[in-house]
Amino acid sequence: MYKDSLWPFYRHGYNIHFNSIIVNKQNFNSQAELLQFLDTNNLYSLYTDGSKSADRVTSAFYDPQNKSTKCFKLDSKCSIFTAESYAIYQALLYVKNIVFKNFIIFSDSLSVLTALKNNCSKYSVNYLVINIKNVINDLYNTGKTIEFVWVPSHRGFTGNEIVDQATRNEHNEDHSTDLKIPFTDYHSQLKHKMKLLWHDYWKETSKEKGRWYADIQGSPPAQPWYHRNKTADCRKFITTINRMRFGHCQTRTHLKRLNLVQDSKCTFCEEDNADLNHIVFNCQSFGVHRLILVTELQSVCDDDEVPTRLQDLLADQKFYAPLYKYIINTINKL
Ligand SMILES: [Zn+2]
Repeated sequence: MYKDSLWPFYRHGYNIHFNSIIVNKQNFNSQAELLQFLDTNNLYSLYTDGSKSADRVTSAFYDPQNKSTKCFKLDSKCSIFTAESYAIYQALLYVKNIVFKNFIIFSDSLSVLTALKNNCSKYSVNYLVINIKNVINDLYNTGKTIEFVWVPSHRGFTGNEIVDQATRNEHNEDHSTDLKIPFTDYHSQLKHKMKLLWHDYWKETSKEKGRWYADIQGSPPAQPWYHRNKTADCRKFITTINRMRFGHCQTRTHLKRLNLVQDSKCTFCEEDNADLNHIVFNCQSFGVHRLILVTELQSVCDDDEVPTRLQDLLADQKFYAPLYKYIINTINKL
């Protein structure tokens, strides 16, 4: 892991940021159009690409003028962003030794090109982006110009296809120990690890407590259920459904459990053990509303059968609106 007493940004002079990186917005519809552009502008072209699979990360560049490719093996923990950046970085080092003035680098990584164009100085910027800017600055100072073009991959551009293949070939140089892994590359792995730990903890603890909720929500949600729910536009809707999902409602059974009332008798039909299931499925006072509820549940179910367990209904957001309407029209408050 790349660690330094100074943040990468402060390792470099501010002057490099005065030279903005040129990212050409040219769109090429065909290989012929691309070649025409190179000819007209008298440009030396290079193609770069990065590749990441489960156990292999490589960066490569291709020089069509010399018909040569070069592939570098990186540490398998490097991200695809690092692989793409390193391919550009190596292509620029190569440019240093080419006797020519104007260069163009084709990359299929929009995220790297965007990062190069931005003058972002946050410490979390991948240090390779700063290294690339440094090399470009050196090249500018020797009278060379560099511009970048984004070309989407697998669109039939020969250079792209060749460099893509080069990342899969046997590598020419092993840089897996030389290239320090940018610390930002560990973020996704840490996130993934954290998710697994949280998942195990969820599975283990739900055996003992929160079984009602665990039955509804099988695994820890990445976002709250109402994150993308368009009908969840009022607070009462969200709190009502939340209380049903958690099983913490103002039903008599729950209030009795908390010792807030003397008995668990339903205040509507006087039946004992008035829990959420009683309100939704059994309470005799709400027969007509239940008929409406069943019709509405059926209508959102298409040809499938309506689940008969409340936990199963609460596990699927399409049932939330009918359930909410039923609660509002019957006991009104949970
Ligand atoms: Zn009742």
